[in-house]
Amino acid sequence: MKNIPKQIVILGGGTAGWMTANLMHKRWQGLGVEITLIESTVEGTVGVGEGTTPFIQSFFDSIDVSESEWMPEANATYKCGISFPNWSTKTGYDNYFHPFYSHVDTAQVEHFFNNANFRREGMDTHAHPDDYFVTSALARQCRAPISQVSKGQRLDYGYHFDAELLGRYLKRIGTGRGVKHVDDKVVEVVGDNKGNIDRLILAGGEHVYGDFFVDCSGFKGLLIQQTLGEQLKDYSHYLFNNRAVAIQTPLSQQDSLSSETVSQALSAGWAWKIPLANRFGNGYVYSGEHITAEQAETELRAHLGDASKDAKALHLQWKVGRVSNHWKGNCVAIGLSQGFLEPLEAPMLNVIQQTLEQFVKYFETGEFTNQYQTIFNEEVNHLIDGTRDYLQAHYLLNSRVDSPYWRECRDNPVMSTSLKNIINGWISTGSFDAVLRDNLHNQAYFKTSWYCILAGMGHFNPVSKRGSRIAARNHQKAKQACEVEASRYVDHQQHIDSQKAASND
Ligand SMILES: Cc1cc2nc3c(=O)[nH]c(=O)nc-3n(C[C@H](O)[C@H](O)[C@H](O)COP(=O)(O)OP(=O)(O)OC[C@H]3O[C@@H](n4cnc5c(N)ncnc54)[C@H](O)[C@@H]3O)c2cc1C
Repeated sequence: MKNIPKQIVILGGGTAGWMTANLMHKRWQGLGVEITLIESTVEGTVGVGEGTTPFIQSFFDSIDVSESEWMPEANATYKCGISFPNWSTKTGYDNYFHPFYSHVDTAQVEHFFNNANFRREGMDTHAHPDDYFVTSALARQCRAPISQVSKGQRLDYGYHFDAELLGRYLKRIGTGRGVKHVDDKVVEVVGDNKGNIDRLILAGGEHVYGDFFVDCSGFKGLLIQQTLGEQLKDYSHYLFNNRAVAIQTPLSQQDSLSSETVSQALSAGWAWKIPLANRFGNGYVYSGEHITAEQAETELRAHLGDASKDAKALHLQWKVGRVSNHWKGNCVAIGLSQGFLEPLEAPMLNVIQQTLEQFVKYFETGEFTNQYQTIFNEEVNHLIDGTRDYLQAHYLLNSRVDSPYWRECRDNPVMSTSLKNIINGWISTGSFDAVLRDNLHNQAYFKTSWYCILAGMGHFNPVSKRGSRIAARNHQKAKQACEVEASRYVDHQQHIDSQKAASND
């Protein structure tokens, strides 16, 4: 192929940069492509981003690193899903768990869909998602999603990890395999007159030329935004949160190691709690239009109690939105340079991975030309916009009355037509599956996630009919089956300890 780039230059050594470097090197090393990653360790990385969705499993597979290798290095733990305390004030619905759905749930999930639909019709039926998924039971029992008995198909699960340590690990793997690494600051980007990037000039004076450039420079988007002029499409009218404060706390000796992220609603946003092997990652994601950074830090410290007393706080802010052309000229943006929504549901590493994998696929299929640029950009926009809708659904469905923030979130008239159809379709008496069939092509999340959020928040009309015995029996059957299946999985703490011990041998 005559267009194979000889030099690919990645700007940025955060999670996005090192994921990109490892995957591109793996795919193209045999073609004689040299991958160079430039980062300024003085500038540093964003330093957060500790939760994932299950898709990341396939990323580690694709670069040939096993859990037993990378997890102990990043103080990683397993993630079965996310719980959402205090988003809903409806009786019986003050918390729900968004599970990672797997093949082991196939037998029970239909009972959940059926009972939720009975409840939508006004029947007095149990329709809370927590009793119908194995990963929910695993999280309740503080187990890892690793079976003690079956060596068959893996469950869909995610991870929690220390972003800094994972970055270091990926850097060691990448450089060990042949990625060239330069630690210096880019002080100037030189473009050509065709809308491409020609070279990067480093503080040390070196000029770095490339055939193709990847912008992983974080929020500033040095190449895609500042040099090639891509503007962020503003999504702040969909999602109000634009700031966060993060504080790390020690693990408490008494607690079992949990396998869930907790996303608890506070007065002007929500707080995450992520269990790592050696500490908790915590943070408060909030709207800077509703409270100040100081108020947010005070509220988070009160929420965390004594554990946060001497801990440092990291304050962050961002513009909510995305670029429209993630691939422009000889540059593709991957990571925060593409834009950012917010950390709810931890979807951004998935956006990074999908952007990267789709780019690699289309670049190869188009024989390293820009042939598939338009379709690639459309697909990435579709993924981000679909993700935005699912995140916004959390705010629209909240029933809190304690602050103007939550009322404004709930009353927000700005939403996509497809999201409006889904929410209205749920509360109508028609078939919700038909509504999903007509709208999911505009969405990024699947049927199970929509049922879980709508039922989990208790978004139902009042009960008007007696429940059926069959529905009650099916609920009990599902609950018991999930608890029994979960009891066959390993204890989370023991599994993480044995992984660590094996990695020290
Ligand atoms: C509060 C918060 C919580 C989050 N939580 C999650 C989560 O739970 N799950 C999830 O999936 N995502 C989460 N994210 C998003 C996630 O953190 C990022 O998507 C991920 O870390 C990738 O960041 P990045 O590599 O694009 O940018 P960064 O980590 O910011 O890296 C940018 C890199 O570019 C380099 N650089 C910049 N300018 C120059 C220059 N001039 N010269 C040389 N080098 C330069 C920097 O030194 C750095 O190496 C969260 C984000 C925030 C803000």
